[in-house]
Amino acid sequence: MYFNENSIVYFNGSFIKAKEASVQAYSQTLHYGNGVFEGIRAYKTGRGVKIFKPYEHYKRLRYGAHVMGIDLNYSEEELTEITYQLLEKNNLKDAYIRPLVVTGSDMSLLTSKETCLIIQCWEWDKYMGDRLLRVKTSSFQRPNPKSCFVEAKVTGHYTNSILSTNEAKNAGYDEALLLDMNGNVAECSGANVFMQKNGKLYTPPRGHIMAGITRATVIELCKEEGISVEEKHFTLEELKNADACFFTGTAAEVVGLQSLDNYQFPLVWEKSHGHKLIKLYKDEVLGLRQKRKAS
Ligand code: PMP
Repeated sequence: MYFNENSIVYFNGSFIKAKEASVQAYSQTLHYGNGVFEGIRAYKTGRGVKIFKPYEHYKRLRYGAHVMGIDLNYSEEELTEITYQLLEKNNLKDAYIRPLVVTGSDMSLLTSKETCLIIQCWEWDKYMGDRLLRVKTSSFQRPNPKSCFVEAKVTGHYTNSILSTNEAKNAGYDEALLLDMNGNVAECSGANVFMQKNGKLYTPPRGHIMAGITRATVIELCKEEGISVEEKHFTLEELKNADACFFTGTAAEVVGLQSLDNYQFPLVWEKSHGHKLIKLYKDEVLGLRQKRKAS
């Protein structure tokens, strides 16, 4: 599904066949989860293939590498250029892009000086699909921000996402919603959350969550469209009193919720801001809004 005989990856300075790209069994990333990654999308637009917000994604990758002490000697511009070349070599237009920085063989608990940048890409539909999601509140919390850098996409942090997704799916739900250590709503296992109440949107502020690039884009779109949005902590009880709710993320884009545990969101989805934002977001990633703004 992710690669075939002909797939090409970027591997530490060269483009090689995906089937030949392997990492050392002694890599610190495998043993301790000390690696960083990104999730980016490219879209086929009327003006050719466009990677959506590559600078912002690569800035976050560089930030993650920096806080983990991982050497990543590429600028945002260089990484973007390599990614465009990679898409072309794979003849991909609508694609999901996965840059990953793995660390070398070192069994100490100090970051290895050896690093390897791998960039992979493949075709991937909306990660959570198009239908409204049935979500379960997780028994797992998002990590304490004093135990790690929550805004860094560190490979090891994703065991928390895996635990919560396994739990939700095993109980028959589509996805998990996690609270933070203070009991406030934080985010989904791989996406941010917005709730709608009395015509206004609310989303948790930064601090305990991934600073999603889709989240920032949606906030920007709301401002442009006159949809009132506020970054504010809210509890599970408040969310179970909301009119509607949706998740945002690069892989998931914008996707609505049908229910949270036993609570059904009462507003008809088609009448919610979330539904409108699906289209606004699509137009934004396809560069149609800029054109409209310019004309
Ligand atoms: N929260 C978590 C935990 C994530 O892994 C992601 C995906 N990076 C997001 C939110 C959404 O972030 P973005 O919109 O930048 O993809």
